[in-house]
Amino acid sequence: MVRRRLVLLPVTAVAVALLPGTAVAAPGDEPVPGAPGLGDPYYPLDGNGGYDVDHYDLRLRYDPATDELTATATIEAAATQPLSSFNLDLQGLTVSAVTVEDDDATWTRDGGELTITPAEPLEEGQDVTTVITYSGVPATLPDVSGFLHTDDGAVVAGQPDGAATWFPANDHPLDPATVTVTATVPEGLEAISNGALEEQSTADGWTTWRWDAAEPMATYLVTLAIGEFDVREYEADGVRYWDALDPDLFTPVMGGPPRGEIAAASLARQPEVIDWLSDWLGDYPFGTAGGIVDDDAALVFALETQTRPVYSPLYFTDQLRGDVVVVHELAHQWTGDLVRIAAWQHLWLNEGFATYAEWLWLERAGVRTAQQSFDQLAALPPESPLWEDLPGDPGPALEDLFSAAVYNRGAMTLHALRSAVGEDVFARLVREWVSAQAGEAVTTADFTALAEEVSGQELDELFQTWLFTPGKPAGLGAAPAAQPSAGTAVAGSPSAAAASAGTTVSSR
Ligand SMILES: [Zn+2]
Repeated sequence: MVRRRLVLLPVTAVAVALLPGTAVAAPGDEPVPGAPGLGDPYYPLDGNGGYDVDHYDLRLRYDPATDELTATATIEAAATQPLSSFNLDLQGLTVSAVTVEDDDATWTRDGGELTITPAEPLEEGQDVTTVITYSGVPATLPDVSGFLHTDDGAVVAGQPDGAATWFPANDHPLDPATVTVTATVPEGLEAISNGALEEQSTADGWTTWRWDAAEPMATYLVTLAIGEFDVREYEADGVRYWDALDPDLFTPVMGGPPRGEIAAASLARQPEVIDWLSDWLGDYPFGTAGGIVDDDAALVFALETQTRPVYSPLYFTDQLRGDVVVVHELAHQWTGDLVRIAAWQHLWLNEGFATYAEWLWLERAGVRTAQQSFDQLAALPPESPLWEDLPGDPGPALEDLFSAAVYNRGAMTLHALRSAVGEDVFARLVREWVSAQAGEAVTTADFTALAEEVSGQELDELFQTWLFTPGKPAGLGAAPAAQPSAGTAVAGSPSAAAASAGTTVSSR
């Protein structure tokens, strides 16, 4: 994936220059093709121009014996310009039929772009229903994200743009939509997705699970987990929970509780974590919650899939570490899911907040204060990659986008801001940020502008230093503090997790 992106960049830069974003046609002009991308500087072909999706209705049948997915996607959208054709993102898979407004449409494939030409051009503002029938074995992306085939099913974690490996999508956070996932799987297996379970029925050896996500979400936040799961349904503080744990996680192990027990205990704390996060970030934004833990060590990260994060089993080696990753992914429900980024370069706004939530949780748990978490990182030597990688513009390669700087230096930025503006102003800023930007797509500039507005301070230098300037900020870690060891490093962060688990595991 990383190599493919690097090769693609020069090509797509040209493509976007020829088909400039949203201004392909002025209102009233002749219908023209919609843009093949939404103009994200890192991934110019992610998403598509000319329409907004309102709802994805995904009806899927998946057979773990063959890995074959057979599906129909019904996409309700509104044209934002006159369109002679439009694109969806779709990686691999075979399209067998497309209708637009019940009429047969023609289509072409080119890499990850599915171009659909309706029988009649679309008018600006027109509501349009597109039905795509497709099948095949969904691809797992080279960074082991997207659609993962497990020993008894599959699990999906598609950040930044892996949704297109299993359904045709406007695959960019700029176009969130509500989603219904109806998954039919062999009887005896479970199928878990986002939102609320609305229906479960069995016929002819197949069980159908219908999940409805009432709140709009970015496509990368849509998940599906198929396999054997213990599903636990409960309600707390008006939120409906569905947790799904692979029973294999409860196999007894030497020297401690099995991972399933640790994961179950961490997930049992979700109502407490959500209540605690609500004090900081505002009311929990969704009607449902829960977590999915599959026993597949190929999944080496956790992802904040909306209302129901997916967790690598590798986190649940001890209770604190398990609790901290749950805190991280639940914090994302506000910062990342409710408040979305307008382009991937702003990812630190998601990860900085989620990592800072870890620091605050560790302080609450009596492990160390947020200041001590900051000081441990501040003690890293000037040659540490933490100082070279820029959280405000990390670059499109996945190892850069998800670098420790985006997480840890992102959290340090928030801590430095808190120190500069004071406790009360910082608390007010965070609350205003989430409430004012709920459901919106945001940039770093939006955040820095609000920080200056709420604090009444000039903060250019602080943000420039922490987000956009290579090198260790002056005056940091002057005291001969010890470097973080594996045992005391910030749990849940990519570097610390790798150090303590002896494997690469990171929370996205
Ligand atoms: Zn994260």
